[in-house]
Amino acid sequence: MTAVTPGQVCAHHHLYSALARGMPAPPKTAATFLEVLEQIWWRLDAALDLEMIRWSAMLGALEALEQGTTAIIDHHESPNAIEGSLDVIAEACATVGVRVVCAYGVTDRHGADGARRGLEENRRFISAGGRGLVGIHATFTCEDETLAAAAALATELGAGVHIHVAEGAEDIDAPQKLAGLTRPEWLLAHCVHLPTDHDLQGTILHNPRSNLNNAVGYANPARFSNPVALGTDGIGANMIESFRLAYVMHRSVDVTATPDPSWAWLETGWDLVPEARNDRVTWSYEPMDPWHLAFTPGVRPLQVEMDGEIVLEDGAATRVDPAEVRAKAGEQAKRLFARL
Ligand SMILES: [Zn+2]
Repeated sequence: MTAVTPGQVCAHHHLYSALARGMPAPPKTAATFLEVLEQIWWRLDAALDLEMIRWSAMLGALEALEQGTTAIIDHHESPNAIEGSLDVIAEACATVGVRVVCAYGVTDRHGADGARRGLEENRRFISAGGRGLVGIHATFTCEDETLAAAAALATELGAGVHIHVAEGAEDIDAPQKLAGLTRPEWLLAHCVHLPTDHDLQGTILHNPRSNLNNAVGYANPARFSNPVALGTDGIGANMIESFRLAYVMHRSVDVTATPDPSWAWLETGWDLVPEARNDRVTWSYEPMDPWHLAFTPGVRPLQVEMDGEIVLEDGAATRVDPAEVRAKAGEQAKRLFARL
């Protein structure tokens, strides 16, 4: 028994984190969310070069396709390899056969020049016709002028903004710092510590596994009037699993919750990347509906068709050699770990 759906959309991903698994332990055990950023992600992103970014994106895109995810909304940072990084990610995804919406996460963590170069990478990529959003890391790592400049650049380019909002308690001031800047086309990742009543416009991106992994709390996205979509925040791109986690987390605070809201959040992804509706994923299970999938493990795609081309057959990518991608990504991970 098989069923066909459109391609799944991962509405918040960090393809650069695909090489992080197995990385050397940080010098000090991270005991808070800020320390998780400082000890793990901000050391990792600073060590990336374009070749590592390429194979990290190839691996992340391959793993997405293998889970029936044909569109990724990516949020990238590599402070020592900014220029051209979004092209590298877009090329890698195109090579595998996965759609990607790129953004470079602007931040003042590396000074005003770092922020300027980040903005410029967004401008360069989108102006040249790249499918992208203007990225901002988060309000707690940006000066007010940088937030305003990024919002203005997005308006100028006719693009949205992709930003982390109130993921941890460190970013609790986000709604004040973003007052008057947000628009409906903005994407607001996490919003765990965002008050239920707020004035931010845009789609909220809920990342259940990441929020659990970082112990930041439960976003409880059902409380918001904004649209809600599902992401992974860089831990793979298995969106059926993300739906299942979103459902069970919702259930953990409300025993009357049904799988329907979490399924609706999954479907919001198609509003963000409408092309994915035309992709065809044939699954190992039938029916692909919320009440079945909430309680059915191990459902996997057998075939994926994009723009009339079979890009996954019998569960294996057709455009690239999966073993080669994994081997090359493994070599780059070794280089990355040596730098760490
Ligand atoms: Zn994120």
